[in-house]
Amino acid sequence: MSSWLHRLAIANGIAPRPFAGVLGLGDGMGSSRLDHSLTHGVATLLQQQADIATEALSAMTMTGPALTPLLLPLRENVRPNRSTWTQYCPQCLAGDQAPYFRRHWRLATRISCFVHGRGLRDRCPACRSGIASFDQTDLMPQHFCARCAFALRTASKVFVKTSARRLERSIDDICKVGMAKGSMTIGDLTSRLLGAPVIAGVSLGKTLTNLSTSSRIRCFEWLADKPVGWLTA
Ligand SMILES: [Zn+2]
Ligand SMILES: [Zn+2]
Repeated sequence: MSSWLHRLAIANGIAPRPFAGVLGLGDGMGSSRLDHSLTHGVATLLQQQADIATEALSAMTMTGPALTPLLLPLRENVRPNRSTWTQYCPQCLAGDQAPYFRRHWRLATRISCFVHGRGLRDRCPACRSGIASFDQTDLMPQHFCARCAFALRTASKVFVKTSARRLERSIDDICKVGMAKGSMTIGDLTSRLLGAPVIAGVSLGKTLTNLSTSSRIRCFEWLADKPVGWLTA
């Protein structure tokens, strides 16, 4: 949703930050908050002005209840080894005609790209900032860092062990099955996943959603070689 809004802004000749003002979202991560909860006022305005159906708008948000606990928290400022609010695959951005940020890049359980088989990134490799399209005051496409204008799609590839990517894929499948069933045990599953860093002994005491992508990659690589009892009985 926020990525689409940022593109909509740029296509209409207005940078994302002032556009958030037009929608009455205020400063900061107002547009990113819409991913979690689309307000009635903004939805109505977009339906009228952008000629888009309610269903299409809802499909862009991250409001599915089951996986909400696994979303990376909205953070404006980046701290060392901590998560940022979204990740990206440089190769996906490179392949897009109109580069955009995928919904699943917001999930802490995702560490790699299923299409390209490489690790995701959560920072600009040049200035170490998180993705800050919401704060962008220049008319610049989203595949450039909003802080230093580095071309994110040229970022180098991140290697992730095959075993860790297999574990990531299994977790994704288990979550999808849990959601499809509307299973009562999905809460148990999400709390096991959030506790994965404690099991792996990576950054003790932090939950999965608080770790940077590189720490979560280390966590998955460690867990991939161990019995799966921590995840599923
Ligand atoms: Zn990709
Ligand atoms: Zn940068």
